[in-house]
Amino acid sequence: MSAKTWRALIKEKHQLSLRLFLLLNAISACFNIASPTHHAITITVPVILVLLSSTALLLWQALDKKRLISINLVSLLLGVLWAWHIVIKNSDVPNNDASFLIIVLLTILFIGSISFINNLRAFTLHCLPVTLTVLWLDQGEHWLRVLYSIALPGIGITIQHIIQRRNDKFTQRLMDKLLKEKKTLSDLSMVDPLTGLYNRRGFQNRLENVLAAGSGNHYVLLLDIDHFKAYNDNYGHSMGDQALIRVSAAVRDAVRSRDIVTRYGGEEFMVLLTNIEANIALQTAERIRQRVYDLKILHLFNEQVATNVTISIGLAPLKDDGIEEALRLADKALYRAKNQGRNSILTSDALQAA
Ligand code: GH3
Ligand code: MG
Ligand code: MG
Repeated sequence: MSAKTWRALIKEKHQLSLRLFLLLNAISACFNIASPTHHAITITVPVILVLLSSTALLLWQALDKKRLISINLVSLLLGVLWAWHIVIKNSDVPNNDASFLIIVLLTILFIGSISFINNLRAFTLHCLPVTLTVLWLDQGEHWLRVLYSIALPGIGITIQHIIQRRNDKFTQRLMDKLLKEKKTLSDLSMVDPLTGLYNRRGFQNRLENVLAAGSGNHYVLLLDIDHFKAYNDNYGHSMGDQALIRVSAAVRDAVRSRDIVTRYGGEEFMVLLTNIEANIALQTAERIRQRVYDLKILHLFNEQVATNVTISIGLAPLKDDGIEEALRLADKALYRAKNQGRNSILTSDALQAA
């Protein structure tokens, strides 16, 4: 997971808390309408607006899950509407009865803290208008009770916020470490991720085993896809990758399980044919070339060769002078095969004879 998806996850979490927030507001508005306190003024305009806007936003989010709604704006807007509602209702409440103010304040603080336990800013924006209104309407008569009602969730949510930030930092550090370790592991890997063939490291490992197992004739093949740059340029990189995967599988299928097939470079492959006679090695190279040809991967830009993907192959024996020398000879042969028209095989013996 990258840092970007981590941020997306946090955003998603916040959007979920917004849904909870809207739901609680809608329920609270419904309750206010259905069971008005102090019987006189029943339904207020702001309460209707709270109900309508929270229901509409909930529906909007349910229909279009990708749409992000500004949490801060919504929390502030609903906070202001509740404050407006309190001002209207308060004029209808018998003098000196602070219970209405306290209840309504607790309701708002409850909704804010339960929805925005991890979002201090949204919590503050939602609760501030109501808190200020209550303080103003109460004229300081029950200031201790009001203060207590605000301070308790306020302190709680601040501490929770600090803990959460610490946890987030810890998780993120852990994630960075895991990503780094994943990279190290893939660097240590023996296999090429695209084709599933051995990479150079894997090849080296297998080669050591082959050489340790004793003497025998081994042959090195270097394979290169013809005009593959043109393929990429015309069909796109991802089609290019698909072609590489299919060619790799064809090469793998054309040889024995004890032979080592390696992705040597971008569109170059190396095959080590182990314990094999020269003529069989040449036949195998020909089989590989034919199998790739038979894939009939359309390649109209394989100039002057064919209308499908083809490969050229250079072949050289692995002798006592080591793999590097064998590769050098195979590479030379491959170069000549390319010059001689591609879709063909050339051996280093033939080069020496020439
Ligand atoms: P030639 O017949 O002489 O080999 O011509 P070429 O175009 O195949 O040779 P060149 O080496 O110039 O181009 C190799 C191209 O292979 C370059 C790059 O676009 C492509 N390539 C290398 N690695 C990858 C890969 O992992 N994926 C894809 N899609 N393309 C790759
Ligand atoms: Mg190449
Ligand atoms: Mg090529």
